[in-house]
Amino acid sequence: MTLPSTYADRNCSLARTLEVVGERWTLLIVRDAFFGVRRFGDFATQLKIPRAVLTDRLKTLVQEGVLSRDDEPGGAVEYRLTAKGIELWPVLRTLMNWGDAHYSPTGAKRVFRHERDGGLLDHEGRCGDCGLVVPVLEILHEPGPGFEPAPGPGRDAVARAVSAPRRLLEPMVTAR
Ligand SMILES: [Zn+2]
Repeated sequence: MTLPSTYADRNCSLARTLEVVGERWTLLIVRDAFFGVRRFGDFATQLKIPRAVLTDRLKTLVQEGVLSRDDEPGGAVEYRLTAKGIELWPVLRTLMNWGDAHYSPTGAKRVFRHERDGGLLDHEGRCGDCGLVVPVLEILHEPGPGFEPAPGPGRDAVARAVSAPRRLLEPMVTAR
């Protein structure tokens, strides 16, 4: 059976949203953008996504204003979350929490802290130390108890960078 290419109920905001972020891989690309991935090759390496699919998903995200596509000096292209894209953070955080609760018996894959005081963030994004709902730019992420390093010797620079504590959106620097 072939699914229709658009949802019939276009008048629903959820249906419209799913047309932007509901395609396979899209939210994983957005998640990696929060984790500092900016370059095509790094998304491809990190997600092991077919390159044609990645090209298509990035194009949609740029068209919809979730990512910006910026030409860097030296000819590199970087994709960055826009303010509109950053607004997706609570959605991602909630989906990750849900996955941890139901599909990760050893605990959270990643934990989030308030950079200012090191307080752990709860499921609403509130700091357990100071009680603030912490803005994205002040959130540190680090491997949680359920984190499993990628197996085998082929662990690349992107995987290593994602496995260390970092600030959200902090650009990942990989050797190239
Ligand atoms: Zn705090």
